[in-house]
Amino acid sequence: MTKNELNFSGGPGALPLCVLEKTQRAITFLEETGISVLGMSHRSDWYEDINRQAQKNLRDLLSISSDYEIIFLQGGGSLQFSMIPMNFLDSKKSMPQYIVSGYWSQKSVLGAESIGQVQVIWDGKSTGYKKLPDLAEIESKIAHNSSYLHYVSNETVEGLSFGHQAIARSQRLICDMSSDLLSKPIQVNDFSLIYAHAQKNLGPSGVTVVIVKKDLLEVSNQSVPPILSYREHSKANSILNTPPVFSIYVLKLVTDWLINQVGGLEEMSILNKLKSKCIYEALDDGSDFYRIHADKPFRSDMNIAFSLRAKSLEDKFLESAKKNNFTGLEGHRSIGGLRASLYNAISVQACERLASFMDDFRRSHP
Ligand code: PMP
Repeated sequence: MTKNELNFSGGPGALPLCVLEKTQRAITFLEETGISVLGMSHRSDWYEDINRQAQKNLRDLLSISSDYEIIFLQGGGSLQFSMIPMNFLDSKKSMPQYIVSGYWSQKSVLGAESIGQVQVIWDGKSTGYKKLPDLAEIESKIAHNSSYLHYVSNETVEGLSFGHQAIARSQRLICDMSSDLLSKPIQVNDFSLIYAHAQKNLGPSGVTVVIVKKDLLEVSNQSVPPILSYREHSKANSILNTPPVFSIYVLKLVTDWLINQVGGLEEMSILNKLKSKCIYEALDDGSDFYRIHADKPFRSDMNIAFSLRAKSLEDKFLESAKKNNFTGLEGHRSIGGLRASLYNAISVQACERLASFMDDFRRSHP
């Protein structure tokens, strides 16, 4: 298998080969226009069509109803951390509430605190971010008058996932789905706002997808500079200024692939479950050798963080993995160790290959 097929990076992640090939041709020139995608005007009919089709693909895949807007923004997941409080901190309501379940939700709190005060209603620090909260406990702490409730559905660094369901019924539930959007079906109606940067399952970095309920947009703060206002971006149909044309074009190709080749999110989710099962089995079979970071009930299908008994052995693992064409298996710099990210474009066969490598490595290092 090629290095691209065995790229287990935490993000930017692997993309499907058919998308890469189409993108390669589009960089030279698009069949429809005769011009490179990199030189296409965002005011052209061609781009208007791509913008519309990319939105439609997302709407179809996630069954998004007409009371939601889809917006394409820049600034990554990180800009959302501050843009959300800028737009939705409501002085007539109580402080926004946050769940801190790992590295990225910690960052979301820091981003929000640069705008105003927030209340953390659960923090997994004492568990080493190996566990997620009990949902009944969260439910009991929700202030129904708060500006919003924010959480991260999949902690990319620690490999923790809240699963398919929204964590609570809340008037204004906001979720960072950067590392699991489009990996499985979800109920968009349970949320007021969902955001995800593209560089995991959606496409290349450069674009962030925001799915936001129209009634939330209507009450968003008016005093925000237009370039940071969801309402203004929505009014301009995400062409308020020059959008990341290339990234949105590739997002459109990736969502075409999900619809036409994979067959939708149910199918994608079945494949993703098979993939993670295969890796978790290899790790569990060698539980005296490999240590999985997340406690079992909270394991993510997208990111599997694990470690070995010594750093020197982890270095050997990486060295040997590299010789076998695997890449991207280093753990996040904040916690070290190792991590396998199984985003949509990683095949079942690639996971079987990795699982077998893990078995062999364990047996040859007793
Ligand atoms: N949220 C999550 C869940 C992430 O995994 C990341 C980065 N990997 C971010 C936010 C930050 O995204 P960005 O680097 O695009 O700002």
